[in-house]
Amino acid sequence: MRAQPTASHYVNGRYIEDEGGAPLPVIYPATGETIATLHSATPNVLELAIEAARAAQPAWACIKPVERGRILRRAADILRARNADLARIETLDTGKAIQETLVADAPSAADCLEYFAGAVATFNGEMIDLGGPFAYTRREPLGVCVGIGAWNYPIQIAGWKSAPALAMGNAMVFKPSENTPLSALALAEIYSEAGLPDGLFNVVQGYGDVGAGLVGHDVVAKVSVTGSVPTGRKVLSLAGSKMKHATMELGGKSPLIVFDDADLENAIGGAMLGNFYSSGQICSNGTRVFVQAGLHDRFVERLVERTKKIRIGDPLDPETQMGPLVNKAQQDKVVSYIEAGKQDGAQLACGGHVPSLQGFDGGCFIEPTVFTGVTDNMRIAREEIFGPVMSVLKFDGEDEVIERANDTEFGLAAGVFTRDLPRAHRVIAELQAGTCWINAYNLTPVEMPFGGVKQSGIGRENSLAALALYSQLKAVYVETGDVAAPY
Ligand code: NAD
Repeated sequence: MRAQPTASHYVNGRYIEDEGGAPLPVIYPATGETIATLHSATPNVLELAIEAARAAQPAWACIKPVERGRILRRAADILRARNADLARIETLDTGKAIQETLVADAPSAADCLEYFAGAVATFNGEMIDLGGPFAYTRREPLGVCVGIGAWNYPIQIAGWKSAPALAMGNAMVFKPSENTPLSALALAEIYSEAGLPDGLFNVVQGYGDVGAGLVGHDVVAKVSVTGSVPTGRKVLSLAGSKMKHATMELGGKSPLIVFDDADLENAIGGAMLGNFYSSGQICSNGTRVFVQAGLHDRFVERLVERTKKIRIGDPLDPETQMGPLVNKAQQDKVVSYIEAGKQDGAQLACGGHVPSLQGFDGGCFIEPTVFTGVTDNMRIAREEIFGPVMSVLKFDGEDEVIERANDTEFGLAAGVFTRDLPRAHRVIAELQAGTCWINAYNLTPVEMPFGGVKQSGIGRENSLAALALYSQLKAVYVETGDVAAPY
């Protein structure tokens, strides 16, 4: 099952290879089979990519926004036309079930390109009346931007970063996660085919050291990272030491609060989506499910019933609902958290094992897992697991649950299920989280800003907020009378 791309890197409109870089094996997580071997970028490749971006960006910034948008729009159409092929690449790279990658990965990138293609022409500065003289502001691009991706949504992340950057007139060098390097190359090809001038979107592969090399490069004006909190801290301090703009999309341990009056099946559906989709590898997952005492037992009973029916197995089978985790290291990490949950006294309500699946012996699977009787100080309730492990916590009152939900260093997302809408808005207003849902969970339409507070990050992706963060304001004062000089 080979998925070898033409070469490791895409720079200045073409594939390039430098076998001097560290080997980067691409492993299909369902079987452990090596499906491609790429190479990490050498300093030479990195320089070529930055130089290509630097050289191409000024002319791109001078093109009318509506014309830049037209190219992004064409790329969105190609993404949609190739959705089936892209979904297959994404499934082979990440292990996520094809029934997910067909609807959630390239389609999300396409939505993003389409949105920014249209939005950028309306995203302008303002005129400020000063009673005679006036001022105006210009939204100018930053220059060369760096995007660094995580492995859970590779093409979506590449789209969410490149679309607002390019729409605004910047160039980008993108480094995918070393675990999932394939689909960003496909996106680069698509941009070229859509007419994006060479050098504006470059892909270089590599581990953290390549990421750090990009972040520290003097030509780079902005960096946007999707990754863990420890990586975000390192990148932000390096970027800060050189006064670069930075957007940090980091991890979470988000609360999902279910009140007694919630629609039971919808709340359970939200909790399952917020814990088991993408085998639980979603930053905004609501992994602390607080259920009010009056509904708790019924909630758990139905949750377990529905969770046991999840079809786990061959990710390329359209009937499969859950594939493996991305790699062995992540599988081991999740297994160790399941052990920690048991040791700390939580009750394993279902799952918790590595399933044995015929034909997938080398696969990194873990059953969807529910712990009940979880208390606030257990490790499974405090640390990001990034796997299909849900913790159910019982609560009595509104003030109590708000305090407990906020008792975390993270602040990426939060959700509330209730039929009492005044309460829903009241509780959401108190929750320390950047992205929230009422009677839903984990929906991320491109029109809505996405990002975290506290340790979960800085800045936002999607929406007009992203255009603001890929641009800088220039303010211009215009005198219409004489200069009043006292000299
Ligand atoms: P990670 O932090 O290990 O790696 C993320 C990326 O950063 C990779 O491309 C990696 O090579 C690069 N990197 C590592 N060290 C670096 C350094 N010193 N300088 C520059 N780049 C460096 O994260 P991961 O394991 O790939 O992804 C999982 C994490 O990502 C989870 O914590 C998850 O919550 C988070 N995540 C957040 C969002 C969001 O939008 N908030 C979305 C998806 C994933």
